This record gives sequence, C-alpha cells and structure tokens, in this order.
Amino acid sequence: MNKLTINDIQLAGKRVLVRVDFNVPLDETQRITDDTRIVESLPTIRKILADGGKAILMSHLGRPKGKVKPEFSLKPAADRLAQLLGSPVAFASDCIGDVADTAVAKLANGECLLLENLRFRNEEEGNDVEFAKALAKHGDVYVNDAFGTAHRAHASTEGVTKFITTCVAGFLMEKELEFLGNAVEHPIRPFVAILGGAKISGKIDVIQSLMSKVDTLIIGGGMAYTFFKAQGLEIGKSLLEADKVELAKEILAEAAKKNINLLLPVDCIAASDFKNDADTKVVAKNAIPADWQALDIGPDTVKLFSDVVKSAKTVVWNGPMGVFEMPSFAAGTNAVAMALVEATKAGAKTIVGGGDSAAAIAQAGLSKDVSHVSTGGGASLEFLEGKVLPGVEALNDK
Ligand code: AMP
Repeated sequence: MNKLTINDIQLAGKRVLVRVDFNVPLDETQRITDDTRIVESLPTIRKILADGGKAILMSHLGRPKGKVKPEFSLKPAADRLAQLLGSPVAFASDCIGDVADTAVAKLANGECLLLENLRFRNEEEGNDVEFAKALAKHGDVYVNDAFGTAHRAHASTEGVTKFITTCVAGFLMEKELEFLGNAVEHPIRPFVAILGGAKISGKIDVIQSLMSKVDTLIIGGGMAYTFFKAQGLEIGKSLLEADKVELAKEILAEAAKKNINLLLPVDCIAASDFKNDADTKVVAKNAIPADWQALDIGPDTVKLFSDVVKSAKTVVWNGPMGVFEMPSFAAGTNAVAMALVEATKAGAKTIVGGGDSAAAIAQAGLSKDVSHVSTGGGASLEFLEGKVLPGVEALNDK
C-alpha cells in the first residue's frame, strides 16, 4: 500500500482524530445487535491509547439526514467500546462546537472520546468546508479507519484532510486495502470472482472491470436470469432487468471474443411463489416453467461453481446466489460459502465483499474461516471496479 499508516507516525501526546465506522445495527431499544465494526476498530484505537495519544473518534450511524434523531445516537457505541476496551470512553453530544471542543480539551493522554453522529448535520455529507475545519480543530493528526465510507467524499473522510497535515490509514483501512488491492492487482492464479445479488445494474462496472483480470467469472443470483434472457431462454417470473438484456448480450459476446471463462448457472431451484414455503423444484436452465421463478442455483450449479472455487488460489465473492434470507433458497449461497472455506484451507486467499455476502457468510457462521470479510459493501465494490476512493486518496503517500 502506498499510503502512510498509523505505524508511520508519532502518536504520544497527540490529539488523534479518527474516522471510524461505528455504523452498527441497533434494535428498537437502541441495543447494538452486531458489534463487528466496533471490534474491528479496536487495534487502531488500542494503538493510539497505548502510545499515549488522545483518541478522538467520529462516525456516522444510520441515515438521520441532517437532523438530531435520538434513535441514531452513537452513545450506545461509546458504551460498547468502553466495555470492549475495559476503560472509560467519554462522549460528546455534538461533533463540533463548544460541547465537542470542551470534551476534547478535557482528554488526557491515553484517553478516548467519541463524538456524536456526524450525520446529525447535513454539512457532513455535503462536505462543507467550515464544518470540515471545525472537525479538523479536534486533531493534531488524522487517521481514517472507516473503509466502509471511504468511497464518499464527505467532510469527515475527505474535507477534513485539507486542514490537517498528517493524514494516515488506520489498521482496518490498511487491512482492507491490502486484501482487496493485492487480490486484484497481484492475484495468485487461478483467480476466480463470483458475483451474485439482485441486479446487473449495481454490478455492471465490477463485472466489466473483473472480466479482464480473472481466470473465471461466475455469475449467479437474481442477475443471472437477465443473462438467461439474453441467451433466449424462458425465465418465467424470475428477476429480470429488461433494460439490461442488451448489455448482458454484449457482456456474453465480449467474454466469448476474449476467451474469458464466464460461468452461469446450469440449473436452478424454481419456486411457485416468492415465499419460503412455496412449492419448489430443481429445473435445468432451459426448463424454468413460465409461471414460476428461479430463486436459487440448483445442485449441478453448486457442484460446478464449488469445484471452480475450490481449485482457485484467489477468490473474490460479492453477492448471494439466491434469496438466502429465506432458508429454502439459501443452499446455493451456503454452498459457495463452504467452497470458499475449503479453498481457504487449501491455501487460497479468499475475500468476501461486504454487504449481503458478508451477511450471508455470517449467517452460515463461516466468517472466521475465510481470509477476509470486507467491512465495506459499496466501498469494496468501487475498489474492485478500479475506482479511486476519495477517503483513501486524501491520505498522505508513503
Ligand atoms: P445485491 O444487493 O444486489 O447484492 O442483492 C442482494 C439481494 O439479492 C438479496 O436480498 C437476495 O435475496 C437477492 N437475490 C439473490 N438471488 C435472487 C433471485 N434469484 N431472485 C430474487 N432475488 C434474489
């Protein structure tokens, strides 16, 4: 990685302003239901505190859309962080202004403070200059450890870096960039990418970018059926993006022309309805009944995809193979997750892009058995597309 990291700078006695990603899921009683993102930020925070720095943390949570909404307060995250650290975490009820300035001024070396939700103010997403300056006042140095928002040029990810000289990556950011960057730029071959999920439209750039890099591109999930349509197959009521059929044809033609190994499902689990207890049957790709819909890949496809994944040395996976939220249509996604686990055991580097595939592998209880599960959904996709992430770009080069 060509960016400076927290290991490259002096932290002792410094006010270290850290953009973390504490955008954790909460239940109706504001209890955190999954603290993975907080846990993932611990190495960076612990390093700052152990080196005698003052950790001033800032994050967004949910979509309060510029309004103070108590249900999106970061206070529960401060409490959870304190538990995890085993030491107190101060909390400021605003991220700028007197309240925040006073809380920062009170911090001693080795102490930690979390500022209230950045998105209680519209200026955060608007990347407002005065707001960015007010945030920058809190820090002598800046650390970005929030990979999940690095694809957005917001005040806390980009604007703030214009007013602080030393801007570096935290350990989580470094880990994400190393895994995703190395996988794409220096893959150990065979390199296999598996893309799934609902829509081609959300993944088209990543499909096109990866096509020239991988040895095999596997396409499953709802978007496979638009490709089926492009091949002239009957897809019944399966998910279709009618305006993307031409694009799917172009992709298939390009793959054929460039001799790219692009794999589509060969069979599917067809369902009479979009519900878990619908009637189901396994059908070949050319036999989806007209009034049924394909909601998962079938057993022959599972074998085909799994064999390819298991023989790979680098695997990137983004998007479920079926409607994995319903147990009746989770088998294909779970099988791909298992194939990644086996590939990992056999020495492959296996990377799960964030979002739904991260949720799927967590649901299967296998997150720890692959090389890396990204904490960033949109950010990991944009990175795989080869786009420059503004929050990364803004950090100091080595
Ligand atoms: P995405 O956000 O594009 O990665 O899409 C994830 C969503 O795609 C999940 O909620 C899945 O339930 C859905 N999905 C995957 N396969 C299918 C399918 N065959 N039909 C309908 N939805 C699907």
